[in-house]
This record gives sequence, structure tokens and C-alpha cells, in this order.
Amino acid sequence: MNSIAERIKEVRNEIARVCEQHEIVPNRVKLIAVSKTKPASDIVSAYAAGHHDFGENYVQEAIAKIMQLSEYDITWHFIGPIQSNKTRDIAENFAWVHSVDRVKIARRLAEQRPAHLPPLNVLIQVNIDDEQSKAGVAPSEINELAATISNFPQLQLRGLMTIPAAQSNPSDSGASFAAMQRLFLDLQSQYKQVDTLSMGMSGDWPYAIAAGATMIRIGTAIFGARAQTPKNTGDLA
Ligand SMILES: *Cc1c(COP(=O)(O)O)cnc(C)c1O
Repeated sequence: MNSIAERIKEVRNEIARVCEQHEIVPNRVKLIAVSKTKPASDIVSAYAAGHHDFGENYVQEAIAKIMQLSEYDITWHFIGPIQSNKTRDIAENFAWVHSVDRVKIARRLAEQRPAHLPPLNVLIQVNIDDEQSKAGVAPSEINELAATISNFPQLQLRGLMTIPAAQSNPSDSGASFAAMQRLFLDLQSQYKQVDTLSMGMSGDWPYAIAAGATMIRIGTAIFGARAQTPKNTGDLA
């Protein structure tokens, strides 16, 4: 099996190829390596291959790795569902949060962001396919949440994130990604600092890039399959 370093290189090459195909400047797309359920040693392997941006879904698990790797120059992205009793840990330990979907969560993150840290970079998660099971706001709710977030000096509104409905054929996510692109451009026309559209995972990222994604979140294609799928009701114990 290929090493993590080799897989990162392959993914980067693929990203460059897809960008070229769509006439997109390759450095427009930032790769976030999603290390949930994987040990800190895997993160170190990716880091050694020159990768510095990592995404985590489970607060407890993430904090343990962040502590362990505090000597490394890593930008941590929180990408999982947010429970209100976990906002302090997120505000104190992450540079980015991709999954803000409630005013209450935004307010807590702002209040709990330590004063010595730069503003927390915030993306609004959009439930683009209107799935019962999924976090995220409806498109019609973006403006209100964006206005709230942009009023907090401790938060920096950077854009939108989505996880489209699972499809047996990943190209079927194209319409959802395109709808996100329209919402993103609309938000950008209202807020100058908005520059980030986070969408695309191991199975569908080329379609996300085609629709203007500026961050893609890749786990499996870099670190291999995850052993267990943790329950999405909360944290890993
Ligand atoms: C797990 C996860 C990913 C990565 O998924 P892969 O299919 O392993 O690439 C990306 N985004 C979010 C929000 C995730 O929970």
C-alpha cells in the first residue's frame, strides 16, 4: 500500500490536473487533510510531506492530538457537528470552523475566543439538499446568520461549507455544488472578506472544484479507510 506521503502527492497531482482541465489556478484550491479517527503519527507523516492544514470532527479526539502536536506549525480546522458544550474547546484550539449553523453557536464561539488569538475563521454550513439527518442552515437562513457572525469582532466570516447528499454516482452532486456556488457568489457580493467555499470529499471533490470550491476536505484518499464510523450523535468517548 502507498504511504501517506505518496497519497498526498497523488491527490495534489490530481487536484492540479482537475484545475487545469477547468482553467482554474491550482493554488486557488486548498487541500484540508481530514485526520478524524487517525493517530497523531499519521498527521506527522502528512506534515513531513509538507502538509499543514488538518480537519477534525470530534472535539475530544481533536484536542488530544492538538496537545500532542503543539510543536508543529499546524492550522486546525473543525469540520464536525457542534454541540454547545464544546464551543469553548473549539474557540480555544482551532483556527477555522467549517460547521457553524446557529446564532447561538456563533455567539458562544465569539464570547469564548481568547483575546490573544486572531479572530476565528468561520464558515456557515449549508444543508444544500435539505436532508433531515444533516446539520446546516437552509439557503434562506444564510443572510441572517452571516449578519450575526460579521458583527462579532472575534469571528471572521470567510464563507460557506456543505456536504451534499450521498449519491451512488458522484457526478449527481454537481447540481448541489452549483447551487452552493451561486449562494457563495451572492454572499461574496455582500461581504468583501468572504473568500472560501469548502466542499468536496474523497468521492466527489473534482465536481466540487468544477463548481468553484476553494477548500476540499479529503480523508480516505490520504489516510486510507477509517476503521469505524463513529456515531454522529456526539463525540468519541
Ligand atoms: C469525514 C469528513 C470528510 C472526509 O471524508 P472522506 O470521504 O474520507 O474524504 C470531509 N468533510 C467532513 C465534514 C467529514 O466529516
